Amino acid sequence: MNPTSNSVSPASFDGERRPTVMKFGGTSVQDTAAFARVAAIARRQSARSPLPPVVVVSAMAGMTDALLEAVRQALEQDTAAALDGLEPHFARYSEVAESLTGGAAYGDFVHALYAARERLAQALETMRAYPGTIPPLRDEVVAYGEQLAATLLAAVIAGDGTACRAVDARTCIVTDEVYGRARPRWEATVARTRQALGPVLSAGVIPVLGGFIGATLDGATTTLGRGGSDYSATLIGAALQADEVQIWTDVAGIYSADPRLVARSRRLETLAYGEATDLALYGAKVLHPRTIEPVERLKIPVSIRNSYDPDAGYSMITSVSGAPPGSILAVTHRPGIAAVHVRPAGGWLAASALEEMARILHAHGVLVEHLAASRLGLTATVEQGDAIEAARRDLASVGDVHLAADRALLCVVGNFGEDVITLHPSLSEALAAFQVTPLLPHPSAHARLFLMAETDAPPAVQALHARLVEPADTL
Ligand code: ASP
Ligand code: MG
Repeated sequence: MNPTSNSVSPASFDGERRPTVMKFGGTSVQDTAAFARVAAIARRQSARSPLPPVVVVSAMAGMTDALLEAVRQALEQDTAAALDGLEPHFARYSEVAESLTGGAAYGDFVHALYAARERLAQALETMRAYPGTIPPLRDEVVAYGEQLAATLLAAVIAGDGTACRAVDARTCIVTDEVYGRARPRWEATVARTRQALGPVLSAGVIPVLGGFIGATLDGATTTLGRGGSDYSATLIGAALQADEVQIWTDVAGIYSADPRLVARSRRLETLAYGEATDLALYGAKVLHPRTIEPVERLKIPVSIRNSYDPDAGYSMITSVSGAPPGSILAVTHRPGIAAVHVRPAGGWLAASALEEMARILHAHGVLVEHLAASRLGLTATVEQGDAIEAARRDLASVGDVHLAADRALLCVVGNFGEDVITLHPSLSEALAAFQVTPLLPHPSAHARLFLMAETDAPPAVQALHARLVEPADTL
């Protein structure tokens, strides 16, 4: 996808006006009180701007996991058990509808829920009978979490007479056919999003869409990968040339370290697109790593806000770095990493070893974070899990395989200048007490990446934060 493509008009949907996109995550809509808060936030935004906002909503917290579990149960046991497991979650949606909607809107939601149950039962049965249908039907099943949330939130917002209605996200976001982690087709998405949402916005109505879901050109339901609602929001924002994409969650921004780990961590008031992406890639859970991709070139700002405390402040992500030259912005870590080392079984590695290793890892769907090669061996840093275990057997054809499990990636984000080879001495000093391997070249001018034992990573984050972030010194 390419948001800068010349064939796409850079103007907004009607050539002048720019809406705000507001995305609410699963914890922001986890119960009745949360829905009420979100409705108030959306109405407030609508009342103070000339154009209504576009609202993008996740499934209620826990619903996506429950739907995936239902698929697993249907395939391994039976459909009835799978559907039973979903009932407590349907009850949570119903409770919200009962408390916050009334009249025809309540009746419509009860009907939507009834139709969802019917269709889910059918889809789960079909998957059992015809395994070939599993990938597309799994996406169709999982999409119900967001679809029901969008229908419900639209009814709740409209409850006080605010003009608002649900729009099926599948009429906006067009993707490829890679079920479970579909990639958007940019130009089709722009065209359809403008077509579907432009008239709604022009009529002064708030559109509410489910995040995370899209459709192929043929109309089959797809999903964008776990946590993908953030990505939906920026895709919609880019397509409409939004003035801002607001990601509403349960924390008021991105912090200099995980606040549960570092009590003195502070909110980053501003950070650059690349800085936010690196933090998302290497451990900060607030943002899906692809979120920034659609909006960066268009310079649409993205803010991270707290739906539980809307006036608490926020982080603003733009093209301006949050770190003065030489300063450290944030420290994060990502556990669950393994390092696979392949040594020559005798003599040298074959000239084709690197290519062969990359091919095997790719074939097993192993995402490589870092790859280092020398004549004496190859080391790939990857996500731990079944995929790498399976790839390990095939890698024996390349050389002797050694797998170091339970590692973590430690990421330091700051303003280091253009040099991606040198490790700055103050970082080495702050990390002297830990066994760390710097992964060179550094991923970018603003990120430094280290591999270390998983158990060492939390104290290393604390040590780095105390020495390099809290004093706000420069390197
Ligand atoms: N509901 C989806 C998930 O749990 C997408 C999202 O919340 O962003 O992964
Ligand atoms: Mg999320």
